[in-house]
Amino acid sequence: MNKQAQDKFNIIIELARRRGFFWQSYEIYGGVSGFVTYGFLGAKLKQNIEKKLREIFVNKLGIMEIEAPIIAPSRIFEASGHVDHFKEPMVECLKCKKRFRADHLLEETAKLSASDVEKLSLEELKEALEKHNVRCPECGGNFSNPKHFLTMFKTTIGPYSRAVGYGRPEAAQGIFVEFRRLYEMAREKLPFGVMQIGHALRNEISPRQGLIRLREFTIADIEFFFDPKDTNCFLLQEVGDETLRLVLAESKLRGSEEIVEVTVKEALKNGYIKVSWQAAFMAIAKSLLIELGIPANNQRFVEKLPWERAHYSLQSFDQEVYVDRWGWIEVSGHAYRTDYDLKQHMDFSGTDMRVFKDYEKPVAREKKIVKPVMTKLGPVFKSTAQKIAKMISEANPEEVEASFKARGYYMLGNYKILPEHVEITTCTLEERGRRFIPHVVEPSFGSDRLVYVTLEYAYRVKSDRVVLSFPRDIAPIQVGVYPLVSRDGLPEKALQVYNTLVNEDIAAEYDEAGSIGRRYARADEAGIPLGVTIDYETIKDDTVTIRDRDTWRQVRTSIDALPELLHKYFRKKIEFDDLGTIVKK
Ligand code: AMP
Repeated sequence: MNKQAQDKFNIIIELARRRGFFWQSYEIYGGVSGFVTYGFLGAKLKQNIEKKLREIFVNKLGIMEIEAPIIAPSRIFEASGHVDHFKEPMVECLKCKKRFRADHLLEETAKLSASDVEKLSLEELKEALEKHNVRCPECGGNFSNPKHFLTMFKTTIGPYSRAVGYGRPEAAQGIFVEFRRLYEMAREKLPFGVMQIGHALRNEISPRQGLIRLREFTIADIEFFFDPKDTNCFLLQEVGDETLRLVLAESKLRGSEEIVEVTVKEALKNGYIKVSWQAAFMAIAKSLLIELGIPANNQRFVEKLPWERAHYSLQSFDQEVYVDRWGWIEVSGHAYRTDYDLKQHMDFSGTDMRVFKDYEKPVAREKKIVKPVMTKLGPVFKSTAQKIAKMISEANPEEVEASFKARGYYMLGNYKILPEHVEITTCTLEERGRRFIPHVVEPSFGSDRLVYVTLEYAYRVKSDRVVLSFPRDIAPIQVGVYPLVSRDGLPEKALQVYNTLVNEDIAAEYDEAGSIGRRYARADEAGIPLGVTIDYETIKDDTVTIRDRDTWRQVRTSIDALPELLHKYFRKKIEFDDLGTIVKK
């Protein structure tokens, strides 16, 4: 990393702390890595980013939002596979006892690629650490053998030590376990989507990347349920011609990070992306990031290799954004989870997660059936004959037939069934539809990483001053209201304007401390898009100036027109110059 990138990063982090975007939690006790507290500006920025997610997914696409608990009984995560799989390789320094992610050490110190390291077994990790002579970054000590560390936070539910629970590492399971109810709420029709934005907990081994790797963070998981046999994806009409920048698994296998730029439709036609819903959501994720201020060229989607994918995924892409300090970082994951989760919960809970879908027209189908022959069963099985007859009619005809062929009999539990006991015939059934477990694609965003990339891409230096040029619709504060000076009735007038704006639901801030230049500078640094200044002319004719954060241009407009104009401006219906008559270029 070059010095410029490091300096910029330091300035952003210092600004975030000083202006109250975010800082490390529990500072007065020395701080704890992996936890952050958002201050007023940061909390608002994060909420506005999440509001965008809601606008896109809930308001426009009709995805249902739910809120489920953070703690779940262990059974849920046994079913989902997390108890077995949600583990990271860890080593301990034999000298200072500090613990590290073995794979991260190899990436950072031996400069091995993440995908090469990810496939190594514990034994291979050990060998690689030795081969590359990787030592403790803190004290230079040698390491223990790597072992797996379960990165879910474990707890007990209530005062029962055996009632083990886990903090959720993703919000997805809270959706899958409620599938039956949610399907009813979706009027028993596919496709439909459910979103959950909430805290997720991952007990990361050694988080050192601020907002990028937290132990408690906010995740926005969208589970989109669809019929895998239905190829109609209505989103393609809207996003089919959008382009995606893909780094495909096949390129990665060749050691290349070559970007293939294709439209969503081409990506599907060429088989780069398996499911059209997934491709469509990737295009939507790209547009979302553009709206947060990240140009398309600084984004890419990287396909995961089989051994890099989560255990539930058949195809995964990470949406990555280039940041100066860390290089490419993942901001959202797009996984084709198939029917994995619903199937697991069906097996573990015994609840039927299948749906029934009518065919357009009923279809006639030949079906083999096994019929018990009572005249033969009765004499042999006597009082149990009825029970056995029932079991026979529920048996799989193909299995029965195959067993007769192979062995001459079929074992029904402990009962030996001979060919003469049954009649295997075919009958014509009218099938109204199919019963199946829906498939799922999941776009999953991390709010905190979105906050970080938004902050980094908003950062500008203008005349030696830092300006955070947040897109106007996500800026934490929309308008600063300033009396030019703190006398002659200007503060009173400015407070009136401020109250009018606040009552109009505009996020405004009143500031009368220091020179107007200092106040503008403070506002630019907090990313406030517009400044409304009340001066001596205001007293005469009820007009104010509006100043643009990015260009420092000024227009003049009447107070009466202000709320309406500002609403239009923040909804991106008009531009800055439409706010009034230009007074300063
Ligand atoms: P994953 O389920 O690992 O694909 O994570 C989904 C999203 O959550 C990622 O794309 C990140 O944006 C975010 N995320 C995952 N782990 C962390 C973490 N430790 N700290 C902050 N954000 C995270």
